[in-house]
Amino acid sequence: MTTMVGTTPEFMAPEFPESSTASDVFSLGVVCARLLDCWEQRFGQELKDERNLLRDVTGRMQSRDKDARPTAVESLEEVTKILSAAQASSDRSQPSYWQQLPGQPSAKVPVARDEILHWPAGQTTWGQFSAALKQTMHDSCRQHQFGDCSPSVRSVERLENPMLWQRYCVARERMASSGLASPINPPVRLENPVIDSSCNEYWLWHGTRHHNVEAILKEGLDEHLSLLDGLYGAGIYFSDEACKALQYSDANGPRYLLLCRVLLGRPYYTRNILKTLRSPKNLPERGDLLQRPEAAGHDSVIVNAGPIQGHPNPNGQVHREFVIFDGACAYPEFVVSVDKV
Ligand SMILES: [Zn+2]
Repeated sequence: MTTMVGTTPEFMAPEFPESSTASDVFSLGVVCARLLDCWEQRFGQELKDERNLLRDVTGRMQSRDKDARPTAVESLEEVTKILSAAQASSDRSQPSYWQQLPGQPSAKVPVARDEILHWPAGQTTWGQFSAALKQTMHDSCRQHQFGDCSPSVRSVERLENPMLWQRYCVARERMASSGLASPINPPVRLENPVIDSSCNEYWLWHGTRHHNVEAILKEGLDEHLSLLDGLYGAGIYFSDEACKALQYSDANGPRYLLLCRVLLGRPYYTRNILKTLRSPKNLPERGDLLQRPEAAGHDSVIVNAGPIQGHPNPNGQVHREFVIFDGACAYPEFVVSVDKV
């Protein structure tokens, strides 16, 4: 009989005494599976779906074939995504920094110049938005839109609309329950941070005419008001570049941008125009589609910069755009008025 100092047999990988990072993963998988057993004994059916997803990960960590095991980093990433999706799906509470209490009517709350933003922590809201405006704007676009001047934040208001917030939370729960989304490729600009990677929830800009703002703050963004002649369908368009969103605002007078929480879920990346598209759930199997749509459907359309078949500009797409087709999948949280100085 072999004596294994410092080793407990049931935690050992089958390839023992050979040891590697893969055998460490096996041992971790055993520990995590036991923790899941404790969880089940203690909480019964609660979060059963999430537990089954976690069991799938621990099962692969304990594969007999060491090459089939995920690495520790991969395992941790999967577990983090599952847990954050569970948190998103169960959390309908309003952001902690809102002033309106649950049940109170919708309000547009002015954000003071020195109010600290809660993401990323430490910056003032005005400072963060001013920096994002400048950093996500092409020089040529700035010159075209502001001449020799620079864009400047004139005011910031926060929409605290409990009804729209609930609608958004329900959409987020539905998206989270459909499984984990793959990361956006290429990543969204850093100025527009991810809120929840499990359903690709991001902060993105939406530009609109001044006369539309009040209706959006009351009723939310509405895909039914989108025009079918949009290049990528009758959806709601967002960008991680302020100059693109500003193209949709008024050319004269104060320009309005909405900084929205947006659920991109599982995007469809197009290299073609998609005029008349009403929903990414049933993308047409047209011959000019370069990426086959997934059978399960998609939640959004992403257009990366570059050549686009059918684009009126022979150089194709200059800015990156994100299109959703369900207004419930966006929450317009900040109204930023932009002026030139
Ligand atoms: Zn631009």
